[in-house]
Amino acid sequence: MRIPFVAANWKMNKTLPEALEFLNAIRGQLPPESEVESLICAQSLFLSQMLFATSDQPLKIGAENVYWKDSGAYTGETSPKALASLGVDYVIIGHSERRKYFRETDEMINNKVQAVLKNNMLPIICVDETMGQREANEKVHWVVSQVIEALKGVSPEEAQKITIAYEPSWAIGTAAATAKQAEDGCYLIRQTIADMFSDECAEQVRILYGGSVKPNNQAELMAMPNIDGVLVGDASLDPAIFLKLVNYQ
Ligand code: PGA
Repeated sequence: MRIPFVAANWKMNKTLPEALEFLNAIRGQLPPESEVESLICAQSLFLSQMLFATSDQPLKIGAENVYWKDSGAYTGETSPKALASLGVDYVIIGHSERRKYFRETDEMINNKVQAVLKNNMLPIICVDETMGQREANEKVHWVVSQVIEALKGVSPEEAQKITIAYEPSWAIGTAAATAKQAEDGCYLIRQTIADMFSDECAEQVRILYGGSVKPNNQAELMAMPNIDGVLVGDASLDPAIFLKLVNYQ
C-alpha cells in the first residue's frame, strides 16, 4: 500500500518570518501521516527553524537541492551530511529548473541521489519532458533515460524508498497535463523501475505528478492508478490552498 503523498515545492519564495507564519496558519489541520504524507520543501537556509516549529506536527520538511560531497572546499554549497544533521527527511533532486538554469546533468543528479541515500535521507527525483520532445515523440526515450541515469548504482533496497516526480516542464506554472497525460508519464516511470529492479520494487516506489496542480484538478490526477501524489509549486504557497491539497480526501 503506497501512502498518498502531497509535497510542496516552495522554490525560492518566502522569507523566514513568512515561512513561520505559514506553518502557524496550518498548525493542527494536517491529516494523519497514515492517511496522507504531507511535505514542504523550502530554501535550505531556514529548514532548521521550520523543523523546530513543526516537530509536533504530522509534516515532513525537505530541501530543494544539495551537493554530493559531505564536506570540503566547495564554497557556497550545501553538504548532504549537514542537511541530514538538521533532521531533514526529503531532498528534491534534478528539478527541471536546476537542469535548465544550473546546467545539472544526469551524472550530477545521480551523484546527488547516492549522496542523499548515503546520508539516510530520501530523494524525490524529478524527471522532465519539454514540449519539443513531446511533439517530436521523444517522450519515451527522454523520461526513461532520466530515470535510468538517476538510479545508476542504487540498490534494490534503496530504490524502493525513492520517490520520482514526473514533471513535464511544459506543464509547470502554465496549464496542467490532463490526468491521462500525467498517468501515461507515471506509468512509464513505473515500468522503467520494474525493468531495472523488479515488479515488487516498482509497486513500492511512489510516483508523483507535478505541473500546475491545484485543488480543482488534484483529485482526478490522484485517482489514476500510477499517480501516488503531487508535487506542487505555486498553489502550495498559500496556507489555505495547501490545507485543501493535503486534505483532498
Ligand atoms: P507549479 O510547479 O505547481 O507551480 O507548476 C511545480 C514544480 O515546479 O515543482
